[in-house]
Amino acid sequence: MQVKIIGGHGGVTKNYSATSYLIDESLLIDAGSVASGLDIEDQLKIDHILISHSHLDHTKDLAFICDNCFGLKDKPFEVYTHKTVNKAIKDHLFNETIWPDFSLLPTKEKPTMRFNSIPAEKEIKLGEYKIMPVHVAHPGDAMGFIVEKGDVAILFTQDTKATERIWEVGKKYKNLKAIFTEVSFPNKLQTVADLSDHHPPATMKEELKKMPKEVPVYLGHLKPNYQEELIQEITALKEDRLHIMYADDVRFHFD
Ligand SMILES: [Zn+2]
Ligand SMILES: [Zn+2]
Repeated sequence: MQVKIIGGHGGVTKNYSATSYLIDESLLIDAGSVASGLDIEDQLKIDHILISHSHLDHTKDLAFICDNCFGLKDKPFEVYTHKTVNKAIKDHLFNETIWPDFSLLPTKEKPTMRFNSIPAEKEIKLGEYKIMPVHVAHPGDAMGFIVEKGDVAILFTQDTKATERIWEVGKKYKNLKAIFTEVSFPNKLQTVADLSDHHPPATMKEELKKMPKEVPVYLGHLKPNYQEELIQEITALKEDRLHIMYADDVRFHFD
């Protein structure tokens, strides 16, 4: 399985893009930068889009990918989220005020995008992938996803503070090859991290102890304005299995 980090950050600047991970060619996790980071030709290859939660750095490019691909796709983008997230995106983004409702365009019968509500801990099958959504500790019924194809499973928490359940579920996957999770704020902003349900490096040290053992851990969602400080603090943890995703537009292969 290939994981392309279109954007791996918790914010947007000239050099950093918000969270969007492309699995192989057709499965997308989060839509923070899928329109700005991929050619339209590659946007058209996406069939299924998993959305972890409603925050703008994970959803904003849903608006632009629909705009870009309007009238060009023979089937809709199928979007999978918890029903709370689904409602939030419909009410606050595709609400005909901020952006047109592309789940009704060009027609209700053949829309550009279709929303599918999925509950936590009920596996779904999308093409050759099996997806297990699991709640994490972040607002609005946020969920992470364990994506499995053949002999390879990869766990994505997306945004979260310290959490439990996704690690318990992850331990059942003997073919788990990688964990993608987040560290957002430096240790001096521990209070901000607590209030916004994110990790600073200090809590990641404890979190690692709960994760499935001996699996490499990729840390993304660094806030662009604290990137250098975060790299220093994460490096100081001296944890060999931590890898920092400081650059976007990179690919990882797992088999
Ligand atoms: Zn985020
Ligand atoms: Zn968030």
